[in-house]
Amino acid sequence: MQVVRGISEFKWLRSRLGEGQTKVSLVPTMGALHEGHLSLVRRARQISDHVVVSIFVNPAQFAPGEDFEKYPRMLEQDLLVSEKNGVNSVFIPEISQMYPEGFRTFVAVEGLSQKLCGISRPNHFRGVTTVVLKLLNIVRPDLAIFGQKDAQQSIIVRRMVKDLNLDVEIVVCPIVREADGLALSSRNKYLKGAERETATVLFQCLEWAKQKVAEGELRAEPILSGITKRIENEPLARLDYAEIVDTNDLAPLTIVKENSLLALAVFIGDTRLIDNSLLRSIDFES
Ligand code: AMP
Repeated sequence: MQVVRGISEFKWLRSRLGEGQTKVSLVPTMGALHEGHLSLVRRARQISDHVVVSIFVNPAQFAPGEDFEKYPRMLEQDLLVSEKNGVNSVFIPEISQMYPEGFRTFVAVEGLSQKLCGISRPNHFRGVTTVVLKLLNIVRPDLAIFGQKDAQQSIIVRRMVKDLNLDVEIVVCPIVREADGLALSSRNKYLKGAERETATVLFQCLEWAKQKVAEGELRAEPILSGITKRIENEPLARLDYAEIVDTNDLAPLTIVKENSLLALAVFIGDTRLIDNSLLRSIDFES
């Protein structure tokens, strides 16, 4: 496995893989790799010849006061698990290379970036799309693999790829969960004591909503108010948002239709967790 820090060094490695002969996939991450990330690596290995994992805690997607400084960083362990899981190269750029003195260009997917998580994190997705576009330009993968865990992110990235005519296929993989349903996340490390158990409330709400829909309840309002009440009953939890939206434009739906996205963001103590589920899902993930 090759570990590459410099942008020009990576471009050189990429040029040696040639155009077309070797199918290259990119799994962009912020590190602190867990089974969720590794599920993307496994998928990447199945569908490509050379798997690149990028590890970059991207300052542009954090607002002042968010957890950029305390975000878990465990590079040594990340390199070990990457190697063990058959990653071919790891790209770990420095902040000073990604955002050198004088950097002024950002790419933003308008509208979609202001919804759901974009309301409480107004510049977050502009940071995400900027760094993803930079990584796509540097790595030039045939495929880029994302998790449905960050459903809004994958919808926004797909939109960017389409709008900017990028030659990359976006693949979205299912959410990997703990045995009790909590979606794996690097931020789960922040949960203290009883917060860990409270955090299962997100999954419980998603399952409850799916059950309601299976029973024939298709109105969004009673589903969302049921979720709100359930979260209000948890002393350690505070709802940021619960919404049922169209997966194309993230517009709120009043009636659940096929492949509607139920998206949640909940503070558990000081830790903001997100989770989601497709309601009436048919073949969304690819
Ligand atoms: P992050 O390091 O949190 O930026 O995540 C990197 C990629 O891993 C993103 O595409 C995430 O959606 C994906 N990911 C994170 N957690 C999970 C999970 N529990 N299951 C599947 N994919 C995940």
